[in-house]
Amino acid sequence: MNHSEHYAGNYTWPEFAEKMKNSKGVILVCGSCEQHGHHLPLDTDNIIGFELALRIAEKTDMLVMPPVNYGQVWSAKGFPGTMSLPASTLKIILRDIICSLEEQKIRNIVLMSGHNGNMPVLKDLAREIMDEFGWRNIWYFPMAMSKDVARLIKTPVPMNVPHAGEIETAMMLYLRPELVHMDRATKEFPKAPEEYAYRPMHWNEFMETGSFGDGGAATWELGQALIESAVDTTAALIDRLLK
Ligand SMILES: [Zn+2]
Repeated sequence: MNHSEHYAGNYTWPEFAEKMKNSKGVILVCGSCEQHGHHLPLDTDNIIGFELALRIAEKTDMLVMPPVNYGQVWSAKGFPGTMSLPASTLKIILRDIICSLEEQKIRNIVLMSGHNGNMPVLKDLAREIMDEFGWRNIWYFPMAMSKDVARLIKTPVPMNVPHAGEIETAMMLYLRPELVHMDRATKEFPKAPEEYAYRPMHWNEFMETGSFGDGGAATWELGQALIESAVDTTAALIDRLLK
């Protein structure tokens, strides 16, 4: 249940049609059902992606479609609760939704994700659709962070993976503090073995908790700064690039 004025699922069809007349289009979020260590919920990426999208939609006068809450999560498969769709399945689901939106002449379709592992799939899908149909109104924006905000992060990001560490924990403290168990946050700085770069390997083969770095270092203030920075940056891009 979401009460946002920018959630498409709350409207009747005549209302949706009316909204779309003068709108730049819709945001379609693809999330993931994925382990996030001992202290964050499986829904973490779904919450972050959807909440970002609603705030961006508010600034750009777009609507957010009901999201796809499963994604490509191969790396985290070894942890209970993680559900991974192969890239091929995810593409078919998103592609069919995009085709429905295109049939209805939606001006722009912005693909977003609260989960990094989906981003290559979204980009590849947009390329395939452009090749097949010639549609140039499909966009993908990764989660943005300004340099000023990056300076506020206090602890290292092991292997460059911010998964369930200080960054994601901070965003969840800001968005859904009731779902964050700070007393269970861990400090784990895994080092991938050399072979990680050269053959498929699940995270649980070289780490214990599934949380990269020091989630306990997160603060509400950092979360607010990260969310606001991502919203402002992406909304400015949409204003500038989308007709
Ligand atoms: Zn995540």
